[in-house]
Amino acid sequence: MTDFEGFFRSKLDELHEEGRYRVFAELERSVGAFPQAVRHVDGRTEPVTVWCSNDYLGMGQHADVIAAMHETIDSCGTGAGGTRNISGTTHAHVLLERELADLHGKEAALIFTSGYISNWATLGTLGSMMDGCVIFSDALNHASMIEGIRHSRAEKRIWKHNDPADLDRQLSEFGPERAKIVAFESVYSMDGDIAPIDEICDVAAAHGALTYLDEVHAVGMYGPRGGGIAERDGVMDRLDVIEGTLGKAFGVMGGYIAASTALCDFVRSYASGFIFTTALPPALAAGATASIRHLKNSDVERAAHQANVAKVRAKLDRIGIPHMSNPSHIVPVMVGDAAKCKWISDLLLDNYQIYVQPINYPTVPRGTERLRITPSPLHTDADIEHLVSALSDLWSQCALSRAVA
Ligand SMILES: *Cc1c(COP(=O)(O)O)cnc(C)c1O
Repeated sequence: MTDFEGFFRSKLDELHEEGRYRVFAELERSVGAFPQAVRHVDGRTEPVTVWCSNDYLGMGQHADVIAAMHETIDSCGTGAGGTRNISGTTHAHVLLERELADLHGKEAALIFTSGYISNWATLGTLGSMMDGCVIFSDALNHASMIEGIRHSRAEKRIWKHNDPADLDRQLSEFGPERAKIVAFESVYSMDGDIAPIDEICDVAAAHGALTYLDEVHAVGMYGPRGGGIAERDGVMDRLDVIEGTLGKAFGVMGGYIAASTALCDFVRSYASGFIFTTALPPALAAGATASIRHLKNSDVERAAHQANVAKVRAKLDRIGIPHMSNPSHIVPVMVGDAAKCKWISDLLLDNYQIYVQPINYPTVPRGTERLRITPSPLHTDADIEHLVSALSDLWSQCALSRAVA
């Protein structure tokens, strides 16, 4: 093949034909105004209310976080200046790792440049270094875990989503001589359902398996100190590895694992994705530390967040807009058709200044296309009213069915 450009274009055409071509909204966030933002479109700007941010609590504009980042840039400069091993470990990184170990009640923590990399590098390293390792992966695990497992080349078993009985059956097929890792999430980001962590740990313990929990959509938001669902459920000590992000509820960027001293030291020493990359800028680390500290001591954001989630659900119920019921903060409004989902999202943006990105295949199965709404503590009653009445208009225009209230 020599026509590379032609190849790229034909692959893009496929996405357009299937209605899966991704279009990014170009936003300008504004401190103090979240979830309001400005959208750049065709050389103009328009105001929008963001309803699909993973800055779940608005910590990205929190005064303590901003101050910590400003101060650190002013005192330490911009970049880390190296990999962690070669001059890139700063005091800010060490403080952040201590803060994270404390958050999850673990001996140690290790930070990475993103949550994606933390899953990829940790599972990749654990799975490849332990001879004969088998990794048991929940069917709905995030792409970053799937890629890490693939990269490890360890044997992989997929167990039915949130089903400890199926996990038990599959673990039983392997003897005690095989190293086993059970990898799963707490809050699943597309359906918003929550894993029965304690039961899964019972099963894993019965088979001597190491437990690996992705708490990316829960850290900062659940548990008395924002330690996640495992903290809320009082089971943090049952997890060998808790993985999280600094980029969602903590409002900054980066990823991490919290685990035993030996496990963190092992990953630090063997994981290519940790070793051969420039460390996070110290200001990011300081901002994340400030955010974690704030949410350890303040419940105001968590309480207001849950209250707003309940308000949105109740209002949707009143007008019969179908949404997947779940025990988390994620409100998946079900459309069930890729074209209609995109159409509704476009009209919300263009006619109502409401931004909710459509979620289509392959992120979710075909036929379950949805608008994934993430209320924040900073959406006002007027914002909620406007969202719900806009959805009501569009539901009628699109002749979509309503749930019986
Ligand atoms: C977003 C996400 C990640 C990756 O975290 P980043 O910090 O955004 O790279 C990992 N796991 C899950 C479940 C996620 O949704």
